[in-house]
Amino acid sequence: MSDCLFCKMASGEIQPDVVYENDEVLAFRDINPQAPTHVLVIPRRHISTLNDLTEADAELVGKLFLAAKEVARIDGIAEAGYRTVMNCNAQAGQTVFHIHLHVLGGRAMHWPPG
Ligand code: 5GP
Ligand code: ZN
Repeated sequence: MSDCLFCKMASGEIQPDVVYENDEVLAFRDINPQAPTHVLVIPRRHISTLNDLTEADAELVGKLFLAAKEVARIDGIAEAGYRTVMNCNAQAGQTVFHIHLHVLGGRAMHWPPG
């Protein structure tokens, strides 16, 4: 999608602070971090929201989590702990409509989230 911010990152048109990448996913630091580690893991292929996932995306979604695990290892937060979050649509606070898994860590997380 030519007008999608995260598609531009996936294609290299905009260059974020990349932490990890492979053929299918890209992980980069959030521009407005909410924790010492705040990384967004995206599929290179555009999918707008979690509601748009199909059975055909099942393996790709698994790869988002495998990338999140790598991010945690790279940032040294794997053992201490971290949180993964995917917001879906307005009431959850989704603002960029290209799915992304937030990886948050480096501080204690609160529950329930706000
Ligand atoms: P959402 O609210 O959709 O779950 O998360 C969108 C995230 O994208 C937010 O945490 C926001 O800070 C981040 N974000 C928005 N624009 C940019 C940008 O241009 N670069 C980076 N690295 N992150 C962005
Ligand atoms: Zn996109």
